[in-house]
Amino acid sequence: MPEAPELEVVKDFLNERAVGCKITEAAILKPSVVRSISADLVEDIKGRSLERVSRRGKFLFLDLSGDRVIVINPMLTGGLQYAEPKDRVYKRTCVIFNLSNGRELRYVDDRQMGKVYYISRDDIDKIPRLDEQGPDVLDDDSFEDFQLRLRSFPGEIKGVLTRGRVIAGIGNAYADEILFEARIYPFKKRRALSTDELRRLFESSRHVIEEATEVVRERMGDNIHLKLRDFLKVHNRGGEPCPRCGNNISQVTANKRITSYCRKCQPGMLLRN
Ligand SMILES: [Zn+2]
Repeated sequence: MPEAPELEVVKDFLNERAVGCKITEAAILKPSVVRSISADLVEDIKGRSLERVSRRGKFLFLDLSGDRVIVINPMLTGGLQYAEPKDRVYKRTCVIFNLSNGRELRYVDDRQMGKVYYISRDDIDKIPRLDEQGPDVLDDDSFEDFQLRLRSFPGEIKGVLTRGRVIAGIGNAYADEILFEARIYPFKKRRALSTDELRRLFESSRHVIEEATEVVRERMGDNIHLKLRDFLKVHNRGGEPCPRCGNNISQVTANKRITSYCRKCQPGMLLRN
């Protein structure tokens, strides 16, 4: 799943490389991912220029001239590809936007669970789940406000983090990284966390995402559709040595989602050492 680091880099890349271009044409290859809410995407988009790209949590906003917006919620497997027309069109390509600089911006999505909304600025609150997002993980936030928002969520802390209501932009992979850095057992209940632990969680969330964003930025280049995860410390590294203590990293799968953590650095309640 693309999370804040990847989407942040994609946002900056498009602001640098694609903003100012006109969209000369669009083609929908997989209609199930497209929601033309305010007007028909293919008909209405022609000739509009891309004015700005922004991000909130795991949503990307591509502002177009005339108060139209393309809103992308990539969900599990969606992403954008900055392609040359001659580049092979993957089977997972769902929408193609032709840009006036000769490039193509393609929305790709293996499982087609993501959505591409075409909407006028005034209608943006009609987008499902957008209003459920908390402040973005890279926004300014205070520990006090963070604690206040957490109050409504007493359950397992990893689930609380990935839900996006307390902080937006964190998914399954980076939740593991943040909890590792904060030395918190992923299945610990939020209500059982001490103030110290909460403070570490608050600080690690921002720090881990900022660091990862810089790594991704350095390595992604034009390949904005790639998901770089090989530099992560614990996520999906079950059985490998913990980079902090050398103990084997544990990995469990629940509801098809992997959770990786170090039992020594992130002790659960039953483990005393
Ligand atoms: Zn460890």
